[in-house]
Amino acid sequence: MTQRFDAVYRQSIDQPNDFWREQAQLVDWFKPFDEVCDYAQPPFAKWFVGGQTNLCHNAVDRHAATRGGDNALIFVSTETNTEITYSFKQLLEQVQVMAAVLKAQGVKKGDRVLIYMPMIPEAAFAMLACARIGAIHSVVFGGFASVSLASRIDDCTPTVVVSADAGSRGGKIVPYKPLLDEALALAAHKPAGVVMVNRGLAPMALQAGRDVDYASAAAQQQGVQVPCEPMASTDPSYILYTSGTTGKPKGVQRDTGGYAVALAASMKHIYMGEPGETYFSTSDIGWVVGHSYIVYGPLIAGMATIMYEGLPVNPDAGIWWQLVEKYKVSVMFSAPTAVRVLKKYDPSFIKNADLSSLKALFLAGEPLDEPTAQWISGELGKPIIDNYWQTETGWPILSLANGIEPAKSKFGSPGVPMYGYNVQIIDENTGENQTQANQKGVVAIEGPLPPGCMQTVWGDDKRFIDTYWSSIPGRLVYSTFDWGIRDEDGYFFILGRTDDVINVAGHRLGTREIEESLSSHSAVMEVAVVGVADQLKGQVAMAFVVLKDAPAYSTPEAQLKLEGELMKVVDGQLGAVARPARVRFVPLLPKTRSGKLLRRAIQAVCEQRDPGDLTTMDDPSALSNIKALVQT
Ligand code: ATP
Ligand code: MG
Repeated sequence: MTQRFDAVYRQSIDQPNDFWREQAQLVDWFKPFDEVCDYAQPPFAKWFVGGQTNLCHNAVDRHAATRGGDNALIFVSTETNTEITYSFKQLLEQVQVMAAVLKAQGVKKGDRVLIYMPMIPEAAFAMLACARIGAIHSVVFGGFASVSLASRIDDCTPTVVVSADAGSRGGKIVPYKPLLDEALALAAHKPAGVVMVNRGLAPMALQAGRDVDYASAAAQQQGVQVPCEPMASTDPSYILYTSGTTGKPKGVQRDTGGYAVALAASMKHIYMGEPGETYFSTSDIGWVVGHSYIVYGPLIAGMATIMYEGLPVNPDAGIWWQLVEKYKVSVMFSAPTAVRVLKKYDPSFIKNADLSSLKALFLAGEPLDEPTAQWISGELGKPIIDNYWQTETGWPILSLANGIEPAKSKFGSPGVPMYGYNVQIIDENTGENQTQANQKGVVAIEGPLPPGCMQTVWGDDKRFIDTYWSSIPGRLVYSTFDWGIRDEDGYFFILGRTDDVINVAGHRLGTREIEESLSSHSAVMEVAVVGVADQLKGQVAMAFVVLKDAPAYSTPEAQLKLEGELMKVVDGQLGAVARPARVRFVPLLPKTRSGKLLRRAIQAVCEQRDPGDLTTMDDPSALSNIKALVQT
């Protein structure tokens, strides 16, 4: 069926050195590498050993030199009504100014720089400037408050913090400086300097001797030249904390050369972006998608990238599609959670825009339920490509490599293992690979992890081994901690996180299976299923449903009737064993700031336990609603 891709995939697994040597041609090297992969000390993989390169050179300088006038960074804020386009040449100038400011603050190669910023161009300048001078950036999502920020400051011990006076969300100004000051007071580690970008949105008191105003510092550096530091391929480029859906976030450490090659290859084989085209990822630079596919990936590929500050529905639900039309976006990347938001609005917002430039919409970050996939696919009339990966991997584990050979997508499946990933479904009790189609198990990856994946947990090699490589008995394999199956065509389906597997009277069920089943009912907008301890059955499934039209079911009778209907749907599709013990209706589900369902928190309140670390939770009322509901 996909002969060409299958051959490429086999080569990437059987002769990884040949495969990756060829991919490495996609980036510039200051010094060629001596060895493609050193895996002498598993699970620590070293890619392109002996080689020297620089991420900023590959993302900016090499394009500025050949076609400096082309668009590089397109900044659009519907919060401040600003649109600025930087060409590669202008981006290069801005990055050098930022690099000079950081150097003047004492930042040296190998030092950490923590970036706590809204979606403004200076955030991208700061990331690229760090890469340029060999500093290791750690971007912390701007929505996090002081406690989350302080814990990351203490973990990565930055020399300098780059921040801004405020962010803005739906027209509401969110001052950052007070949160930052609080975090710096809380943290044991004290950075030497704080560089503040003043957007003029919120008052911002500078602390003498520590804080500098970016505009004044930058004024002294106009036209400055700061060369790209030659970095060993294996030098760390950044630290990024995982979303914290399952507990304490892990500091993912990324290398330099492997990441550059992995991104360049993914732009070609998976995302199919060409130099001169425009990429639009609706994520935030605080997440891995923002690192790989707002900043580095598109720029490395010579594409323009849109950095969008604002809501998907402001000034109206057509804003994204208007941007696609205006900037002739060819590749778009978003998350199912955002599509579910748009689904509440009139589809004419999509239909009214000229989307002829758009080749495909990629979605990742959480399971893409079939109704959402069907809806967006129908309205857009473009390929919708679900892709599955993690902060840890930096680029897709599962997807379709349509740039190598077009493949058909299957609803509910994020596709097949990408080149370089030796993915297995493993029975976590026996530790053996599931060799038959449709057998459930842990989705795991045989080492070495391909280029671009995490090198280790920042400052904690032991945690890297203990967390990721030690959970399956008798095997040194990387666990994704997701549960899945592979069908007869080799397509994978993610059934939920391993923590979320429910064991009802000896039957093992993925929360995802039950959620999919419930969401096939036309009244359901969104649903979360958790397993709750039960004396008789071990565990039972509990479902929390957000309705499309809640007022239509406002009476207890209507809710009871719907609950019965929903249980019948599950009975019919999965069998009575999967039927939730209760289906409760809620206005909102608890999610992380990155839009992931916090099932562990729901489960904890259902079992009357402490929900644990909730610092990455978005709207706390979602959880308190559920708490109130289950206690009645
Ligand atoms: P933490 O590891 O701190 O608990 P997290 O796992 O949510 O947080 P991320 O790295 O942002 O942090 O998310 C990766 C996870 O998101 C995957 O392991 C998987 O559970 C889920 N995921 C990502 N993409 C998809 C997808 N396309 N389909 C299903 N699940 C997905
Ligand atoms: Mg995770």
